[in-house]
Amino acid sequence: MELVFKEMKKEAQNAYSLIFEPNSEFKWNAGEYLEIKMPHSNEDDRGIERYFSISAAPSEGVVMITTRFFENEASSFKKALFELKTGDKLENVKKPENNDSFFNANNPNREYIFLTAGIGITPVRSVIKEYHLNKRDLKGILLYANRDDEYIFGEELERMTNDMPEFSIQKYHGKRINKEVLEKLLKEYDNPIFNISGTYDFNMQMKDILLNQLKIDSSNVKSSSFGKGYSQS
Ligand SMILES: Cc1cc2nc3c(=O)[nH]c(=O)nc-3n(C[C@H](O)[C@H](O)[C@H](O)COP(=O)(O)OP(=O)(O)OC[C@H]3O[C@@H](n4cnc5c(N)ncnc54)[C@H](O)[C@@H]3O)c2cc1C
Repeated sequence: MELVFKEMKKEAQNAYSLIFEPNSEFKWNAGEYLEIKMPHSNEDDRGIERYFSISAAPSEGVVMITTRFFENEASSFKKALFELKTGDKLENVKKPENNDSFFNANNPNREYIFLTAGIGITPVRSVIKEYHLNKRDLKGILLYANRDDEYIFGEELERMTNDMPEFSIQKYHGKRINKEVLEKLLKEYDNPIFNISGTYDFNMQMKDILLNQLKIDSSNVKSSSFGKGYSQS
């Protein structure tokens, strides 16, 4: 698939969204991600390939990815990505196939608990936006951990979920999402599906609590692990 770059928006400190138009019909489920291969000059040893969740909702009609950019410390890939000009093309973009254990909130009859840290909000934004645009009620809660109080998409998420009587957001800045927090939620929600998104370390911590300590059935734990590319979220 080919994506044509349209524009970039700043979302929060170090976090930017890049908006593209697909050159052919492109369908995806909220929460899914892209594989982008981008050959570029002065390539570093981290290579030409990255994965990015699609932060746009399928009903928005554009493809958006949202990522952090650390200027001088950025990889050669990120530097090349942030040099894109309107009309430039990404020619080698794929959407990997996912199984049922991958992050998703496709069943509007279920209750969902989203566990997210930092940039891990990208697939969650896609899900909430999709429900909101289609005026469907999303049921559940988002637990959103961040290292500071600049939450990516923070205001937009609050605005959208204000219209959703059965959905709420809890922000975790300066406190952790731990076993006690999750144990309490299990008393409030009926057989919920957990969707974890963020760094590899965050995914491992949350899975350890849910699967090993709280003995949640693995069919109710879905995840999108961003790998070890970020040392911090
Ligand atoms: C399924 C999947 C979905 C993904 N979705 C996304 C997504 O939606 N958005 C996204 O950004 N990535 C996503 N990723 C991760 C992505 O593929 C990259 O690994 C990641 O963006 C890091 O990119 P980079 O290697 O180019 O490093 P860079 O972003 O260039 O960062 C280089 C290094 O510098 C560190 N660093 C430097 N300065 C700072 C600082 N001030 N604070 C914190 N860290 C600092 C970073 O931790 C990192 O180790 C996803 C990965 C997978 C597998």
